[in-house]
Amino acid sequence: IPTDSPTDSPTDTHCPYCSFQCGITLVAGSRPATLQPQEDFPTNRGGLCSKGWNATELLDHPDRLLTPLVRAVPGDRSSALRPATWDEALGRVVDGITASQQRYGRDSIGVFGGGGLTNEKAYSLGKFARVALRTAMIDYNGRFCMSSSATAGNKAFGVDRGMPFPVSDIGETAAILLVGANPADTMPPAMQWFDAGRAAGAQHIVVDPRRTSTAQGASVHLRPTPGTDLALANGLLHLAIREGYVDQAYIDARTTGFAAVRAGVRSFWPDRVERITGIAVDDLRRTVQILAEAPSAMILTARGAEQHSNGTDTAQAFINLALALGLPGKPFSGYGTITGQGNGQGGREHGQKADQLPGYRRLDDPAARAHVAAVWGIDPAELPRPGKSAFEMLDAIGTPDGVRVLMVMASNLVVSAPDANRVADRLAALDLLVVSDIFLSETAARADVVLPTAQWAEEEGTMTNFEGRVIHRRQALPPPAGVLDDLQLMIELARRLDRGQYFSADPRTVFDELRRASAGGIADYAGISYERIDAEQGVFWPCPTDEHPGTPRMFLERFPTPDGRARFIRVEHRDPAEMPDADYPFALTTGRLLTQYQSGTQTRRNNARMVPDPCVQLHPDLARGQGIGAGDIVEVRTRRGAARFRAQLDDGIRRDTVFVPFHWGGASNANTLTLAALDPYSRMPEFKVCAAALERVGDS
Ligand code: SF4
Repeated sequence: IPTDSPTDSPTDTHCPYCSFQCGITLVAGSRPATLQPQEDFPTNRGGLCSKGWNATELLDHPDRLLTPLVRAVPGDRSSALRPATWDEALGRVVDGITASQQRYGRDSIGVFGGGGLTNEKAYSLGKFARVALRTAMIDYNGRFCMSSSATAGNKAFGVDRGMPFPVSDIGETAAILLVGANPADTMPPAMQWFDAGRAAGAQHIVVDPRRTSTAQGASVHLRPTPGTDLALANGLLHLAIREGYVDQAYIDARTTGFAAVRAGVRSFWPDRVERITGIAVDDLRRTVQILAEAPSAMILTARGAEQHSNGTDTAQAFINLALALGLPGKPFSGYGTITGQGNGQGGREHGQKADQLPGYRRLDDPAARAHVAAVWGIDPAELPRPGKSAFEMLDAIGTPDGVRVLMVMASNLVVSAPDANRVADRLAALDLLVVSDIFLSETAARADVVLPTAQWAEEEGTMTNFEGRVIHRRQALPPPAGVLDDLQLMIELARRLDRGQYFSADPRTVFDELRRASAGGIADYAGISYERIDAEQGVFWPCPTDEHPGTPRMFLERFPTPDGRARFIRVEHRDPAEMPDADYPFALTTGRLLTQYQSGTQTRRNNARMVPDPCVQLHPDLARGQGIGAGDIVEVRTRRGAARFRAQLDDGIRRDTVFVPFHWGGASNANTLTLAALDPYSRMPEFKVCAAALERVGDS
């Protein structure tokens, strides 16, 4: 760990939060640290949202963990957490791992990573699980975030790069269909690109059951019944075919499988789609006309469309629509998905996923195993097989098949996992829970061992933003005394497991190894170096050689499939796993607020002045029918739990739908309500719709 004192010289780095990864300049020498947005960084161009502006408050926050914590009585989680030395804390972790593996086998250890980790950490964590722990059981919170669209992208295009074009293309395209995304609140600086497009005459269609800040600026706002986006996409494709809008020359030259999809959408006639989605036929027609008649157009999806038990098929249906209109690979056109977490893109490329190795290689591919094993200096036979996906690993705890020791890095599961009460019960059944974090999150508070880690401005590494641009997170100051960087934490544990020789705590050394491990893979970083990132303000993957310019725009000539063509894939609408009924009459959906990020571990602390009350948003008519007034305390109940929120009335939301944000634990934990029905392909849980009931339990 660098021990230099922070200096007053400015450090160009990036916001610690979302996937937009705004460029900032940080001065950390005199405290409190100050920051400014970088005017010339090509994505945010001087923009920053309140989350980023307040990020320096994390650095000296009084809640910061500065020493490891262990239970006063080992194995007894009712005993208090007390400070411990690193030796004692790591000793407890290694003793627990060793005892569990001797008794129950290697796969009794689980690792749960995060989409906020740098590429170097994500890569090292995947390697740590497979080489130091030799367990198959590793997955990460991106499974709850991006996995549906990633799976759909891989199936259709042969690659998953969230946005296969730079964000500047958003300002150039003539039409956008934006489904289940609210960038005006989640990544406000991105709106400069949407605004530029609209100012130049572009038409934007927003699909969301709420009239969000983003929807307010749209040309068309479609408010479908939650859980019906797939039917919407199939219905739009039906209309595009019927009204002669498909690009047959493109379909013939660049795709396969259209005939089956054409047959599949034949039954999605407009009045049927209106019945399923609640969207008027005229609005369906207008949407298709805008997309098809524009000289360039994009379809962008995000979690609102993807976090469903049919999330992969839903993303696939929008890809089908984009392909039929001839968009992917055309200038300022295509399909993209807007990643959420800071390193949501890179976090899924380097081996944190249960079924993958670095470079987006498949763990069950013999050639991939041989390549990565050679880079790691092990026998391919030593590499475990694919393990369980995130929720399945958590849900198996307490069963003979489940992990007994869980190491959690950069994730707050008891707030962010679906059906959170069930997950909390499962965690309670572990023999040992180890959490590394910068604060005592709701999950860390339940752990046997808590390990304090360095945070964004205290570490060096790379991140891959939502465009696929690899950027440099530069270190501006050393971590506080007593805190370890996650890379050092892993090497300390690996050493104690007699596997330390395979690991490095130096980010540049790790990145060089990552480049070799990814070489020849789908996400090829071989030609990317820290020096190039600095000189070029980021480098887009794939970038296979030092001479390669990187790839801001993909699919211009071919798709990375064996035949070079994109694949249409027929998909059918199916209802959500849980539909409203007499007992639970409303559709519940969840999302983010402007000032908060993910489980709120950081943002509930770093801008305390701006933390709103946990609220439930509902239509005034629905509220009136339930005897609820603005500001009342409302208990939202589902078959899994109950949580309390203050009522916020908004006539822009559907009358049958209620919305809650997911940034709080305790009594307002939205994920105690959500449903863990999993998508069959991606294993994405159905966060975005379930059946709920409401009761007013307190006055305003
Ligand atoms: Fe930029 Fe996202 Fe940070 Fe806001 S949270 S400043 S949009 S990177």
